[in-house]
Amino acid sequence: MAERITGHTELIGLMAYPIRHSSSPAMHNEAFAYLGLDYAYLAFEVDNNTLEDAVKGIRALKLVGSNVSMPNKTVVGQYLDKLSPAAELCGAVNTIVNENGVLTGHITDGIGFMQALKDNDIDVIGKKMTIAGAGGAATAIEIQAALDGVKEISIFNIHDKFWANAEETVRKINEKTDCKATLYDLDDKEKLREEMADSYIFVNGTGVGMKPLEGMSVVPDKSFFRPELIVIDVPYSPLETKMRSMAKEVGCKTMNGLGMMLFQGAAAFKLWTGKDMPIEHMKEVLN
Ligand code: NAD
Repeated sequence: MAERITGHTELIGLMAYPIRHSSSPAMHNEAFAYLGLDYAYLAFEVDNNTLEDAVKGIRALKLVGSNVSMPNKTVVGQYLDKLSPAAELCGAVNTIVNENGVLTGHITDGIGFMQALKDNDIDVIGKKMTIAGAGGAATAIEIQAALDGVKEISIFNIHDKFWANAEETVRKINEKTDCKATLYDLDDKEKLREEMADSYIFVNGTGVGMKPLEGMSVVPDKSFFRPELIVIDVPYSPLETKMRSMAKEVGCKTMNGLGMMLFQGAAAFKLWTGKDMPIEHMKEVLN
């Protein structure tokens, strides 16, 4: 470390609270070291109360940029100078890029999801996707999928505090993209069965399957799956969920959330450094 960090080393931050558990610092610093890039990535405990000052600090200290996580993703936009089209539509930012004091907010979660599909030879462009979820992760996926050319998205959510956000996402997708989006109640299981039946992929974009909802599934039983359906989880801890083990029993190809996590980081890495993250090396290190 003493040899690696010098007076020239450029800093990239991560602003969130809580954040000490994050795997992002290890991921980015490993990639910098592997490629011999003179950057360091550090996590900072920043919440909504200190966010504005922290963003001013990006300019004052000339940081290359920063990642932003909860509770700051939906709040930070107001302190930035520009937003990417996806960040604007999502109403959320997870990556800030500093170009000579001009701060642009991006959201790379959806980009990461779409890249993870490509990495698994899954091509959903021009096809139909059914997805459960209307929170941060699901919204980023839905917006990016629509921007990238997915033909139709059926969104399912329970009637909780995220319902209004789902309505807003559907409205924006239908107004601003060529994709047709429709919202359904996740409690209407017959509708879920119907929409899954002619979909190319099904995505669980909720926290169901992950602690404290471990052992649960948004899909009630395996009769909802057919072997040609590709079944994807956004949660990645635990790596195996009840939903995907049911889908595997039917013979479906499945994917967990690790790829999305890796590729959202790779997209941010590229925005800051202009370089491709060494994906194959990172997969080895992360496993
Ligand atoms: P969020 O709190 O913003 O959204 C939660 C979503 O889960 C909402 O749609 C909500 O309606 C739904 N939900 C909650 N309880 C439910 C229940 N009992 N039944 C059905 N639906 C329920 O959370 P988020 O940030 O969108 O994260 C969702 C999941 O995705 C988490 O497991 C998170 O760890 C994971 N995630 C993964 C990545 C990745 O890179 N793979 C990125 C972000 C989040």
